[in-house]
Amino acid sequence: MSGTTLDDYTDRYAQRVHGMAQSEIRALFSVASRPEVVSLAGGNPYTAALPLGDVGEMFAEMLATDGAKALLYGPGQGDVALREAICMVMADSGIDLSSGASPDDVVVTVGAQQALDLLTRVFCDPGDVVIAEGPTYVGALGVFQAAQCQVVHVPVDDEGLIPEALEETLAVLAKAGKRPKFLYTVPTYQNPTGVTLTEARRERVLDICEAADLLVVEDDPYGALGFEGQPPRPLRARRRSGIFYVGTFSKTFAAGLRVGWVLAPPAVRDKIVLATEAAILCPSALAQGAVVRYLTAMPWREQVKTFRELYASRRDALLSALTDYMPAGMRWTKPGGGLFVWAELPEGLDSKAMLPRALQQRVAYVPGTGFYADGSGRGQMRLNFSFPPADRIREGVRRLADVISEQSAL
Ligand code: PMP
Repeated sequence: MSGTTLDDYTDRYAQRVHGMAQSEIRALFSVASRPEVVSLAGGNPYTAALPLGDVGEMFAEMLATDGAKALLYGPGQGDVALREAICMVMADSGIDLSSGASPDDVVVTVGAQQALDLLTRVFCDPGDVVIAEGPTYVGALGVFQAAQCQVVHVPVDDEGLIPEALEETLAVLAKAGKRPKFLYTVPTYQNPTGVTLTEARRERVLDICEAADLLVVEDDPYGALGFEGQPPRPLRARRRSGIFYVGTFSKTFAAGLRVGWVLAPPAVRDKIVLATEAAILCPSALAQGAVVRYLTAMPWREQVKTFRELYASRRDALLSALTDYMPAGMRWTKPGGGLFVWAELPEGLDSKAMLPRALQQRVAYVPGTGFYADGSGRGQMRLNFSFPPADRIREGVRRLADVISEQSAL
Protein backbone atom coordinates (compact mmCIF):
# COMPACT_ATOMS: atom_id res chain seq x y z
CA MET A 1 0.00 0.00 0.00
CA SER A 2 1.50 3.29 -1.00
CA GLY A 3 0.28 6.50 0.55
CA THR A 4 0.59 8.32 -2.75
CA THR A 5 -1.40 5.94 -4.97
CA LEU A 6 -5.01 6.91 -5.60
CA ASP A 7 -7.18 4.08 -4.38
CA ASP A 8 -10.50 3.49 -6.14
CA TYR A 9 -11.47 0.83 -3.63
CA THR A 10 -11.40 2.95 -0.47
CA ASP A 11 -15.14 2.85 0.20
CA ARG A 12 -15.30 -0.89 -0.39
CA TYR A 13 -12.80 -2.09 2.20
CA ALA A 14 -13.76 -3.91 5.37
CA GLN A 15 -13.53 -1.84 8.54
CA ARG A 16 -10.48 -3.75 9.73
CA VAL A 17 -8.43 -2.71 6.72
CA HIS A 18 -8.65 0.95 7.66
CA GLY A 19 -6.62 0.31 10.81
CA MET A 20 -3.85 -1.43 8.88
CA ALA A 21 -0.74 0.63 8.29
CA GLN A 22 2.51 -0.31 6.63
CA SER A 23 5.07 -1.17 9.30
CA GLU A 24 7.90 1.31 9.64
CA ILE A 25 10.34 -1.52 9.14
CA ARG A 26 8.87 -2.73 5.85
CA ALA A 27 8.75 0.85 4.59
CA LEU A 28 12.48 1.11 5.22
CA PHE A 29 13.45 -2.03 3.37
CA SER A 30 14.14 -0.59 -0.06
CA VAL A 31 16.47 2.19 1.06
CA ALA A 32 18.11 0.28 3.89
CA SER A 33 19.02 -2.61 1.61
CA ARG A 34 21.19 -0.49 -0.69
CA PRO A 35 24.77 -1.75 -0.40
CA GLU A 36 26.23 1.62 0.65
CA VAL A 37 23.84 1.82 3.61
CA VAL A 38 24.81 0.13 6.89
CA SER A 39 21.50 -1.25 8.01
CA LEU A 40 21.00 -1.51 11.73
CA ALA A 41 17.30 -1.56 10.87
CA GLY A 42 16.82 -5.21 10.00
CA GLY A 43 15.81 -8.11 12.16
CA ASN A 44 17.10 -10.96 10.08
CA PRO A 45 19.01 -13.85 11.57
CA TYR A 46 22.35 -14.54 9.88
CA THR A 47 21.44 -17.59 7.80
CA ALA A 48 24.82 -17.48 6.02
CA ALA A 49 26.15 -19.07 9.24
CA LEU A 50 24.21 -22.25 8.43
CA PRO A 51 25.99 -25.13 6.67
CA LEU A 52 23.98 -24.52 3.51
CA GLY A 53 25.48 -27.49 1.67
CA ASP A 54 24.36 -29.83 4.45
CA VAL A 55 20.92 -28.22 4.50
CA GLY A 56 20.66 -28.77 0.75
CA GLU A 57 21.62 -32.42 1.13
CA MET A 58 19.06 -32.77 3.89
CA PHE A 59 16.32 -31.48 1.59
CA ALA A 60 17.48 -33.78 -1.22
CA GLU A 61 17.47 -36.78 1.11
CA MET A 62 14.00 -35.86 2.36
CA LEU A 63 12.61 -35.64 -1.15
CA ALA A 64 14.30 -38.86 -2.20
CA THR A 65 13.05 -40.92 0.74
CA ASP A 66 9.84 -39.16 1.73
CA GLY A 67 9.03 -36.91 -1.20
CA ALA A 68 5.45 -38.01 -1.80
CA LYS A 69 4.53 -37.18 1.80
CA ALA A 70 6.59 -34.00 1.94
CA LEU A 71 4.75 -32.63 -1.09
CA LEU A 72 1.24 -33.38 0.17
CA TYR A 73 -1.24 -31.79 2.56
CA GLY A 74 -0.93 -32.85 6.18
CA PRO A 75 -2.90 -32.48 9.40
CA GLY A 76 -3.98 -28.95 10.39
CA GLN A 77 -2.38 -29.38 13.81
CA GLY A 78 0.94 -30.21 12.19
CA ASP A 79 3.06 -33.31 11.73
CA VAL A 80 3.25 -35.48 14.86
CA ALA A 81 6.99 -36.13 14.43
CA LEU A 82 7.58 -32.38 14.49
CA ARG A 83 5.29 -31.87 17.48
CA GLU A 84 7.33 -34.50 19.35
CA ALA A 85 10.57 -32.77 18.39
CA ILE A 86 9.11 -29.42 19.49
CA CYS A 87 8.46 -30.91 22.93
CA MET A 88 12.13 -31.94 23.06
CA VAL A 89 13.12 -28.34 22.22
CA MET A 90 10.79 -26.88 24.84
CA ALA A 91 12.12 -29.32 27.46
CA ASP A 92 15.55 -27.68 27.06
CA SER A 93 14.05 -24.48 28.46
CA GLY A 94 12.15 -26.19 31.27
CA ILE A 95 8.75 -26.71 29.63
CA ASP A 96 8.33 -30.48 29.78
CA LEU A 97 5.90 -33.29 30.51
CA SER A 98 5.94 -32.45 34.21
CA SER A 99 4.59 -29.02 33.28
CA GLY A 100 1.91 -30.64 31.16
CA ALA A 101 3.45 -30.09 27.73
CA SER A 102 2.83 -32.96 25.33
CA PRO A 103 2.88 -33.23 21.52
CA ASP A 104 -0.89 -33.32 21.64
CA ASP A 105 -0.98 -29.78 23.02
CA VAL A 106 1.23 -28.34 20.27
CA VAL A 107 -0.12 -26.72 17.10
CA VAL A 108 2.44 -26.11 14.35
CA THR A 109 2.06 -22.68 12.77
CA VAL A 110 3.48 -20.63 9.91
CA GLY A 111 6.06 -18.98 12.13
CA ALA A 112 5.35 -17.47 15.53
CA GLN A 113 3.59 -14.74 13.61
CA GLN A 114 0.71 -17.01 12.66
CA ALA A 115 0.52 -18.31 16.22
CA LEU A 116 -0.05 -14.73 17.41
CA ASP A 117 -2.65 -14.23 14.71
CA LEU A 118 -4.48 -17.45 15.62
CA LEU A 119 -4.53 -16.69 19.34
CA THR A 120 -5.89 -13.25 18.58
CA ARG A 121 -8.58 -14.69 16.28
CA VAL A 122 -9.57 -17.19 18.92
CA PHE A 123 -9.76 -14.72 21.82
CA CYS A 124 -10.38 -11.22 20.51
CA ASP A 125 -13.34 -9.35 19.09
CA PRO A 126 -13.06 -5.84 17.66
CA GLY A 127 -12.65 -3.32 20.46
CA ASP A 128 -11.17 -5.83 22.90
CA VAL A 129 -8.24 -4.72 25.00
CA VAL A 130 -4.87 -6.45 24.79
CA ILE A 131 -2.05 -5.49 27.16
CA ALA A 132 1.48 -5.43 25.76
CA GLU A 133 4.88 -4.14 26.75
CA GLY A 134 5.64 -0.62 25.60
CA PRO A 135 7.56 -0.86 23.33
CA THR A 136 6.55 -4.22 21.87
CA TYR A 137 7.09 -6.43 18.81
CA VAL A 138 5.86 -4.57 15.75
CA GLY A 139 4.41 -7.71 14.12
CA ALA A 140 2.21 -8.32 17.15
CA LEU A 141 0.92 -4.76 16.87
CA GLY A 142 0.06 -5.53 13.24
CA VAL A 143 -1.96 -8.56 14.33
CA PHE A 144 -3.79 -6.64 17.05
CA GLN A 145 -4.54 -3.76 14.70
CA ALA A 146 -5.87 -6.11 12.02
CA ALA A 147 -8.15 -7.64 14.65
CA GLN A 148 -9.24 -4.13 15.68
CA CYS A 149 -8.05 -4.61 19.24
CA GLN A 150 -7.13 -1.77 21.53
CA VAL A 151 -3.53 -2.13 22.71
CA VAL A 152 -2.70 -0.80 26.17
CA HIS A 153 1.02 -0.58 26.88
CA VAL A 154 2.82 -1.30 30.13
CA PRO A 155 6.31 0.22 30.32
CA VAL A 156 9.52 -1.80 30.56
CA ASP A 157 12.84 -0.96 32.19
CA ASP A 158 16.17 -2.80 32.23
CA GLU A 159 14.53 -5.65 34.15
CA GLY A 160 11.65 -6.07 31.71
CA LEU A 161 7.96 -5.41 32.19
CA ILE A 162 7.36 -3.32 35.34
CA PRO A 163 5.01 -5.31 37.61
CA GLU A 164 3.71 -2.27 39.50
CA ALA A 165 2.82 -0.61 36.21
CA LEU A 166 0.97 -3.76 35.14
CA GLU A 167 -1.01 -3.70 38.39
CA GLU A 168 -1.86 -0.04 37.89
CA THR A 169 -2.95 -0.64 34.32
CA LEU A 170 -5.18 -3.49 35.38
CA ALA A 171 -6.73 -1.32 38.08
CA VAL A 172 -7.40 1.50 35.62
CA LEU A 173 -8.95 -0.90 33.11
CA ALA A 174 -11.09 -2.54 35.80
CA LYS A 175 -12.34 0.88 36.90
CA ALA A 176 -13.30 1.63 33.30
CA GLY A 177 -15.18 -1.68 33.17
CA LYS A 178 -12.75 -3.18 30.65
CA ARG A 179 -11.53 -6.75 30.93
CA PRO A 180 -8.35 -7.25 28.91
CA LYS A 181 -8.23 -10.44 26.85
CA PHE A 182 -4.60 -11.23 27.53
CA LEU A 183 -1.15 -9.92 28.30
CA TYR A 184 1.13 -10.28 25.29
CA THR A 185 4.73 -10.45 26.46
CA VAL A 186 8.20 -11.24 25.12
CA PRO A 187 9.92 -11.84 28.45
CA THR A 188 13.32 -12.95 27.15
CA TYR A 189 15.71 -10.79 25.07
CA GLN A 190 12.71 -8.78 23.98
CA ASN A 191 12.18 -7.36 20.55
CA PRO A 192 12.76 -4.40 20.37
CA THR A 193 14.55 -3.61 23.66
CA GLY A 194 16.70 -6.70 24.22
CA VAL A 195 15.78 -6.66 27.92
CA THR A 196 14.87 -9.77 29.91
CA LEU A 197 12.27 -10.08 32.63
CA THR A 198 14.18 -10.98 35.78
CA GLU A 199 13.60 -14.11 37.82
CA ALA A 200 11.87 -12.20 40.63
CA ARG A 201 9.67 -10.23 38.26
CA ARG A 202 8.57 -13.39 36.43
CA GLU A 203 6.99 -14.71 39.60
CA ARG A 204 5.53 -11.31 40.41
CA VAL A 205 4.01 -10.85 36.94
CA LEU A 206 2.53 -14.34 37.07
CA ASP A 207 1.03 -13.68 40.50
CA ILE A 208 -0.53 -10.46 39.23
CA CYS A 209 -1.96 -12.18 36.16
CA GLU A 210 -3.29 -15.03 38.24
CA ALA A 211 -4.93 -12.67 40.74
CA ALA A 212 -6.53 -10.70 37.90
CA ASP A 213 -7.49 -13.88 36.00
CA LEU A 214 -5.56 -12.53 33.02
CA LEU A 215 -4.41 -14.89 30.26
CA VAL A 216 -0.80 -14.61 29.09
CA VAL A 217 0.57 -15.02 25.59
CA GLU A 218 4.28 -15.70 26.06
CA ASP A 219 6.22 -15.13 22.84
CA ASP A 220 9.71 -16.63 23.07
CA PRO A 221 11.64 -16.53 19.79
CA TYR A 222 14.96 -15.60 21.39
CA GLY A 223 15.21 -17.74 24.53
CA ALA A 224 17.86 -20.02 22.98
CA LEU A 225 20.02 -17.04 22.02
CA GLY A 226 21.48 -16.17 25.42
CA PHE A 227 25.06 -14.87 25.43
CA GLU A 228 25.72 -15.31 29.13
CA GLY A 229 24.22 -18.70 29.89
CA GLN A 230 20.59 -19.73 30.12
CA PRO A 231 17.97 -17.04 30.72
CA PRO A 232 15.40 -17.45 33.51
CA ARG A 233 12.90 -20.21 32.78
CA PRO A 234 9.91 -19.24 30.61
CA LEU A 235 6.66 -18.25 32.31
CA ARG A 236 5.04 -21.40 30.95
CA ALA A 237 7.61 -23.56 32.77
CA ARG A 238 6.37 -22.03 36.04
CA ARG A 239 2.61 -22.25 35.57
CA ARG A 240 0.47 -24.69 33.63
CA SER A 241 -2.75 -22.83 33.13
CA GLY A 242 -3.65 -19.54 31.55
CA ILE A 243 -0.40 -19.28 29.57
CA PHE A 244 -0.04 -19.81 25.84
CA TYR A 245 3.56 -20.36 24.86
CA VAL A 246 4.64 -19.39 21.34
CA GLY A 247 7.90 -20.64 19.80
CA THR A 248 9.60 -20.58 16.42
CA PHE A 249 12.48 -22.04 14.44
CA SER A 250 13.12 -18.71 12.74
CA LYS A 251 16.06 -17.87 15.01
CA THR A 252 17.41 -21.35 15.74
CA PHE A 253 17.21 -22.64 12.17
CA ALA A 254 15.69 -20.71 9.28
CA ALA A 255 13.14 -17.89 9.24
CA GLY A 256 12.46 -18.63 5.57
CA LEU A 257 10.91 -21.99 6.39
CA ARG A 258 8.16 -20.24 8.39
CA VAL A 259 7.75 -22.88 11.08
CA GLY A 260 6.63 -21.99 14.59
CA TRP A 261 4.21 -23.34 17.16
CA VAL A 262 1.85 -22.62 20.00
CA LEU A 263 1.39 -24.72 23.13
CA ALA A 264 -2.19 -24.63 24.41
CA PRO A 265 -4.45 -26.76 26.59
CA PRO A 266 -6.78 -29.15 24.66
CA ALA A 267 -9.93 -26.99 24.52
CA VAL A 268 -8.10 -23.94 23.18
CA ARG A 269 -5.90 -26.12 20.99
CA ASP A 270 -9.02 -27.39 19.22
CA LYS A 271 -10.16 -23.83 18.51
CA ILE A 272 -6.70 -22.93 17.24
CA VAL A 273 -6.68 -25.92 14.90
CA LEU A 274 -10.09 -24.90 13.51
CA ALA A 275 -8.83 -21.35 13.01
CA THR A 276 -5.65 -22.49 11.26
CA GLU A 277 -7.54 -24.91 9.00
CA ALA A 278 -9.80 -22.05 7.97
CA ALA A 279 -6.79 -19.85 7.25
CA ILE A 280 -4.24 -22.19 5.64
CA LEU A 281 -5.59 -25.79 5.75
CA CYS A 282 -2.28 -27.04 7.11
CA PRO A 283 1.32 -25.89 7.56
CA SER A 284 3.84 -26.79 4.85
CA ALA A 285 4.74 -30.49 5.02
CA LEU A 286 8.01 -29.76 3.23
CA ALA A 287 9.09 -27.13 5.76
CA GLN A 288 8.02 -29.31 8.69
CA GLY A 289 9.95 -32.28 7.31
CA ALA A 290 13.04 -30.12 7.04
CA VAL A 291 12.75 -28.98 10.65
CA VAL A 292 12.26 -32.56 11.87
CA ARG A 293 15.44 -33.60 10.07
CA TYR A 294 17.32 -30.60 11.40
CA LEU A 295 16.32 -31.51 14.95
CA THR A 296 16.95 -35.22 14.66
CA ALA A 297 19.80 -35.67 12.17
CA MET A 298 21.84 -32.47 12.31
CA PRO A 299 23.98 -31.06 15.16
CA TRP A 300 21.38 -28.34 15.78
CA ARG A 301 22.47 -27.46 19.32
CA GLU A 302 25.97 -26.81 17.95
CA GLN A 303 24.42 -24.68 15.23
CA VAL A 304 22.47 -22.61 17.77
CA LYS A 305 25.74 -22.18 19.68
CA THR A 306 27.32 -20.87 16.48
CA PHE A 307 24.50 -18.31 16.13
CA ARG A 308 24.85 -17.34 19.80
CA GLU A 309 28.61 -16.82 19.57
CA LEU A 310 28.32 -14.83 16.36
CA TYR A 311 25.59 -12.57 17.73
CA ALA A 312 27.43 -12.14 21.03
CA SER A 313 30.50 -10.85 19.21
CA ARG A 314 28.35 -8.52 17.10
CA ARG A 315 26.52 -7.28 20.20
CA ASP A 316 29.92 -6.52 21.73
CA ALA A 317 30.89 -4.63 18.58
CA LEU A 318 27.71 -2.58 18.74
CA LEU A 319 28.00 -1.81 22.46
CA SER A 320 31.64 -0.80 22.25
CA ALA A 321 31.00 1.39 19.20
CA LEU A 322 28.11 3.08 21.03
CA THR A 323 30.40 3.75 23.99
CA ASP A 324 33.18 5.05 21.74
CA TYR A 325 31.15 7.29 19.44
CA MET A 326 27.83 8.36 20.93
CA PRO A 327 27.44 11.86 22.34
CA ALA A 328 26.44 12.56 25.95
CA GLY A 329 22.78 12.17 26.74
CA MET A 330 22.40 9.00 24.69
CA ARG A 331 21.39 5.83 26.54
CA TRP A 332 21.01 2.23 25.42
CA THR A 333 20.18 -1.25 26.70
CA LYS A 334 22.79 -3.99 27.15
CA PRO A 335 21.03 -7.16 26.05
CA GLY A 336 22.12 -10.55 27.32
CA GLY A 337 20.89 -12.23 24.14
CA GLY A 338 18.70 -11.90 21.07
CA LEU A 339 19.17 -9.51 18.16
CA PHE A 340 18.49 -5.96 19.32
CA VAL A 341 19.65 -2.95 21.30
CA TRP A 342 17.19 -0.17 22.16
CA ALA A 343 18.59 3.33 22.29
CA GLU A 344 17.26 6.59 23.66
CA LEU A 345 18.28 9.81 22.00
CA PRO A 346 19.40 12.93 23.84
CA GLU A 347 16.47 15.06 25.05
CA GLY A 348 14.54 16.77 22.27
CA LEU A 349 15.68 14.65 19.31
CA ASP A 350 13.16 12.80 17.17
CA SER A 351 14.25 9.49 15.66
CA LYS A 352 11.57 9.56 12.97
CA ALA A 353 12.35 13.10 11.84
CA MET A 354 16.07 12.29 11.85
CA LEU A 355 15.81 9.17 9.68
CA PRO A 356 16.04 10.85 6.23
CA ARG A 357 19.28 12.53 7.32
CA ALA A 358 20.64 9.24 8.66
CA LEU A 359 19.82 7.49 5.38
CA GLN A 360 21.57 10.29 3.52
CA GLN A 361 24.58 9.56 5.74
CA ARG A 362 24.22 5.87 4.81
CA VAL A 363 23.00 4.37 8.05
CA ALA A 364 19.55 2.95 8.86
CA TYR A 365 17.72 2.17 12.10
CA VAL A 366 14.08 1.71 13.04
CA PRO A 367 12.44 4.71 14.73
CA GLY A 368 10.86 3.89 18.08
CA THR A 369 7.33 4.91 17.07
CA GLY A 370 6.81 1.65 15.17
CA PHE A 371 6.89 -0.30 18.41
CA TYR A 372 4.03 1.50 20.14
CA ALA A 373 0.33 1.58 19.30
CA ASP A 374 -0.04 5.06 20.78
CA GLY A 375 2.49 7.20 18.93
CA SER A 376 5.14 7.12 21.69
CA GLY A 377 8.77 6.35 20.97
CA ARG A 378 9.91 9.44 19.10
CA GLY A 379 13.00 9.71 21.24
CA GLN A 380 13.91 6.05 20.76
CA MET A 381 15.25 3.69 18.13
CA ARG A 382 15.98 0.00 17.58
CA LEU A 383 19.41 -1.16 16.46
CA ASN A 384 20.00 -4.67 15.11
CA PHE A 385 23.30 -6.51 15.57
CA SER A 386 22.60 -9.98 14.14
CA PHE A 387 23.01 -9.26 10.46
CA PRO A 388 25.81 -6.77 9.68
CA PRO A 389 29.40 -7.90 10.32
CA ALA A 390 31.20 -6.29 13.28
CA ASP A 391 33.23 -3.79 11.23
CA ARG A 392 30.09 -2.59 9.43
CA ILE A 393 28.29 -2.24 12.74
CA ARG A 394 31.11 -0.06 14.01
CA GLU A 395 31.05 2.08 10.87
CA GLY A 396 27.25 2.36 11.06
CA VAL A 397 27.36 3.55 14.66
CA ARG A 398 30.06 6.08 13.76
CA ARG A 399 27.83 7.51 11.02
CA LEU A 400 24.80 7.49 13.30
CA ALA A 401 26.69 9.23 16.10
CA ASP A 402 27.72 11.98 13.64
CA VAL A 403 24.07 12.50 12.66
CA ILE A 404 22.95 12.63 16.28
CA SER A 405 25.71 15.07 17.24
CA GLU A 406 24.86 17.24 14.24
CA GLN A 407 21.14 17.23 15.10
CA SER A 408 21.87 17.99 18.76
CA ALA A 409 23.82 21.06 17.69
CA LEU A 410 20.96 22.45 15.56
N1 PMP B 1 7.65 -12.57 17.85
C1 PMP B 1 8.73 -11.80 17.97
C2 PMP B 1 8.98 -11.15 19.28
C3 PMP B 1 9.60 -11.62 16.90
O1 PMP B 1 10.66 -10.83 17.05
C4 PMP B 1 9.32 -12.27 15.68
C5 PMP B 1 10.20 -12.14 14.46
N2 PMP B 1 11.06 -11.17 14.34
C6 PMP B 1 8.19 -13.05 15.60
C7 PMP B 1 7.38 -13.20 16.70
C8 PMP B 1 7.79 -13.73 14.32
O2 PMP B 1 8.61 -14.80 14.10
P1 PMP B 1 8.36 -15.89 12.99
O3 PMP B 1 9.45 -15.71 11.99
O4 PMP B 1 8.46 -17.16 13.73
O5 PMP B 1 7.01 -15.67 12.43
